[in-house]
Amino acid sequence: MKAAVFHGLGKPLAIETVPDPICGPGDVLMRINYCGICGSDLHATQEGVFVVPDGTILGHEVAAEVVEVGRDAKGLFKIGQRVTTVPINACPNCSRTCRLGLGIHCPSNQITGFGIPGAYAEYLRADANHVLALPNEVSDENAAMVEPLAVGFHAVDRSGLKAGANVLVLGAGPIGLSTALFAYFAGARRVVVSELAPDRRKRALKFGATHVIDPGMGEVKDQFAEIAGGPPDIIFECVGVKGLIQHCINMLPPFGKAVVVGVCMQPDTIVPISGILKEAALQFVLGYSKRDFEVVIDFLAAGRIDPKPMLTEVVDFAKLPAAFEALRKPTQQCKVMLKPH
Ligand SMILES: [Zn+2]
Ligand SMILES: [Zn+2]
Repeated sequence: MKAAVFHGLGKPLAIETVPDPICGPGDVLMRINYCGICGSDLHATQEGVFVVPDGTILGHEVAAEVVEVGRDAKGLFKIGQRVTTVPINACPNCSRTCRLGLGIHCPSNQITGFGIPGAYAEYLRADANHVLALPNEVSDENAAMVEPLAVGFHAVDRSGLKAGANVLVLGAGPIGLSTALFAYFAGARRVVVSELAPDRRKRALKFGATHVIDPGMGEVKDQFAEIAGGPPDIIFECVGVKGLIQHCINMLPPFGKAVVVGVCMQPDTIVPISGILKEAALQFVLGYSKRDFEVVIDFLAAGRIDPKPMLTEVVDFAKLPAAFEALRKPTQQCKVMLKPH
């Protein structure tokens, strides 16, 4: 099959013919309809603490259809059925993680598209335990956005956001938008999204933002106070750039909370006393559970959310390497997807 393969830092993805994936007894083999490019794919292929090995096929934001069902998974899925997959390959048994649907924390977990071959390819094998059927109401394009939406849902769920809270979201990429959207659903009084790019700011207003601000136009803290009459109760850091955690702490009121959703892979420093003096809470979140995926699929099927404005470009294999590299620089793009067939 055709796939896009990573061959080291500074090199564009190479479009190659690789062996077809094999459907194991507990697996589902699927034909990829769309695969989204994720910020973490970009992070994992540039200088940082985690770089995927030479030969990696990235891709974990999947809309697909079933072409083969393994022996032990027979009856769970039909050939031709439309599916997505939680990009998790874990044991099913750890009591603290897997049995709670949190295989992302399983010590034996390997994430699809990082540890094991992903969906920048014509076909993908996935663990049947983590494959989810798609209702007819959920389009293929929207299905490929379930994963980033689930990140936002999970971040808001984990944050303990209370109805009526004033919320600041830093960044209006796919994760910032998803977070703003579910903060809105959680009953936030104001959802203020801070973003440099004008197109992204405009888009945030379709994703639950009640207000948008341009951090280039003055202190975010002051702009927020002007809108909300005071500081944010919760800040979601959805950019993942060095220095932003300290920036969040500086903006928090006493007992405020900063939730780190953006993935920064560089060492960063904070001044602990700045958080101590406020008894601020600093929380990190990772990914999602299978249930988070199911909730998002329900939201999509019921038409309660429409992530379509997030999708700004669809590319084929020929255009993928350049589109992937272009996302490393500040861009007006939001979600770019590969359509491999
Ligand atoms: Zn992703
Ligand atoms: Zn486990």
